Amino acid sequence: MEKEHRISELASHLPSLGEGQGVGSHPLHLFHFCPQCGSPRFVEHNEKSKQCMDCGFTYYINPSAATVALIERRTEQGAEWLCVRRAKEPAKGTLDLPGGFSDLYETSEQGVVREVKEETGLDVERVEFLFSIPNQYVYSGFTVHTMDMFYRCHVADGLDSARAADDAGEVLWLRPEDIRPEDFGLISVRQGVRLLLAKRQKSGL
Ligand SMILES: [Zn+2]
Repeated sequence: MEKEHRISELASHLPSLGEGQGVGSHPLHLFHFCPQCGSPRFVEHNEKSKQCMDCGFTYYINPSAATVALIERRTEQGAEWLCVRRAKEPAKGTLDLPGGFSDLYETSEQGVVREVKEETGLDVERVEFLFSIPNQYVYSGFTVHTMDMFYRCHVADGLDSARAADDAGEVLWLRPEDIRPEDFGLISVRQGVRLLLAKRQKSGL
């Protein structure tokens, strides 16, 4: 329990979703020069874009696609959800669900299957889209706006062989009734876990 409390403290230091919006910090504030001609007159065009006053180049920012996986196993004691402990910043040491950024040229479904394989070694056979939540992910001093897509992932064989790798430092099977959303450090994942728990109560997800 002590460890769980420590994780909640870590999570409470994270900014709330939406922080930074409308407070003078344009999502492209770190981009000072036109990437096409190098002009320093690369200025805010609207809330989503910057434009070069010299060559006219315009760059729009959109959310980066990311995925989150819900994997369940059945035991004699009931259902358990596969959680991982984050091995890297941001929110290092807090709980997470497997997932990550989509790569160029792959589908979102392929992305979640790849991330589950990389982080747990499991082979996902079928995915089912659940919902999406926008998130902000601070990496290298830059706030990356993401669109996190949550999938229920079905694994036919080898669930018990899940092992942590890559961004995951540890694999934990937790009973939904024991899961505390505040132990999840990434805001969208915390919100997603809350939603999953609520859906489970309502309809037996
Ligand atoms: Zn330019």
